[in-house]
Amino acid sequence: MMGKTALVTGSSRGIGAAAARALAADGWELTVHYHRSQDAALALAAELGVPALEADVTDPAQVTALFDAVGPLDLLVCNAGVAQYGLLTDTDEDAWRQVLAVNTDGAYRCCRAAIPHMVRRKAGSIILVSSVWGLYGASCEAAYSASKAALIGLTKALCKELGPSGIRVNCVCPGVIDTDMLAQFDQADRQALADETPLGRIGTAQDVAELIAFLASDRASFITGQAIGCDGGFGL
Ligand code: NAP
Repeated sequence: MMGKTALVTGSSRGIGAAAARALAADGWELTVHYHRSQDAALALAAELGVPALEADVTDPAQVTALFDAVGPLDLLVCNAGVAQYGLLTDTDEDAWRQVLAVNTDGAYRCCRAAIPHMVRRKAGSIILVSSVWGLYGASCEAAYSASKAALIGLTKALCKELGPSGIRVNCVCPGVIDTDMLAQFDQADRQALADETPLGRIGTAQDVAELIAFLASDRASFITGQAIGCDGGFGL
């Protein structure tokens, strides 16, 4: 592996925390990032023996301060995200903007902050966490689906823009994954989602973390510009 420094946004909980653990096990020098879940982030940081830093990715000044504190990165995982449920006609301007502000603008901001160092060193890797809904769309999740589809476009554009500088950019598209993001689903909903999945179960954060760790590694050195599902076949 060429470089070793990594930041996983939204690594206080869920997929981000699992990715942080997997990357740390692979030898990456990590920074844990959080917004509201300070206790969980500090506990993970203590477990891994790494720093934890707070920033709201919707705030440009906080993102700048975060990247100034972290320093040059070899790997950026843009994982911080929020879900929003409801008919589009019930989604007001504020709700729409909040989803895009975290999921899409946050990723834009973090990429923009990380890229100059990577270009200077002609090396690096970026992984964006999209969703199967970014590929297929979900009823009653229009804002979320749009925010995640944007990340797939961003991945493909950055692949072309940064490939000549030796930087790989990929996107992971998790299916239904058992994290706090599923909190509004009851047991019957979860069973229905599992039944819709060819592999017959909901995924785990670890399932997605393994894909992220692979894409981050030198084993994926010729893989860029891809949007790769981790979904048990969901959506096919
Ligand atoms: P989660 O358990 O709800 O965790 C979300 C993470 O994002 C938390 O660490 C949270 O930090 C962070 N975050 C939220 N708003 C933020 C903000 N404004 N600034 C900075 N960080 C912020 O969700 P998850 O399921 O692990 O999701 C992780 C990623 O996977 C998201 O992008 C999500 O869209 C995507 N995904 C999830 C699923 C699924 O089924 N779970 C499926 C497809 C894609 P704090 O808690 O510290 O505030």
